[in-house]
Amino acid sequence: MSNQNMTTQMKRLLYLIAEYTKIGDQYGVLSIKDLPLKALIYYGIINKIFDYDYAPLSIMYMDNRRFLNVSQEGEDDLNDLRDLGLLNKIRIATRSHTFIYAYSLTNNGIKYLKEIKSDDKIAVDSKLKCKCGRTYEIKVLLSGIYFTCSTCNVNINSQITDIEDVAYKCVPLIIKTQLTG
Ligand SMILES: [Zn+2]
Repeated sequence: MSNQNMTTQMKRLLYLIAEYTKIGDQYGVLSIKDLPLKALIYYGIINKIFDYDYAPLSIMYMDNRRFLNVSQEGEDDLNDLRDLGLLNKIRIATRSHTFIYAYSLTNNGIKYLKEIKSDDKIAVDSKLKCKCGRTYEIKVLLSGIYFTCSTCNVNINSQITDIEDVAYKCVPLIIKTQLTG
């Protein structure tokens, strides 16, 4: 695989990670953990920034397994960006002796940012950064994953944990069918 295979989705994803891992104007300084990144990707999907599918997937969430809306296509693009040498995937041990992953840009990833069209950057900024231009602070809580900006007094539910409704809605329908059928 070469950089010629970079899709619009991959470019937006790389830029998103770049924005969330920079300090000031310096790219590639920080890493972003897997769970906050999954929340950003999902929120990007429902706001039409990413053209990915998603499905409920049971993953570790605050030391328990839990169903979240996860995009397999998004995960595949993360792996492809790593294969292209644009992303690092870092394994971190947790207190409960499990592992989580975090992502950071490689030097080649930083260099690639200038190849990304401003249209794509503006699209990502419009939904996945605050209107003040700053990246959100991402809070992983039992009630969900939230994007906040204390300066602007903004608190957005990523909705990545909102999957139970669908499951519950299906049950009465089935019962009703059985009763009337
Ligand atoms: Zn703000």
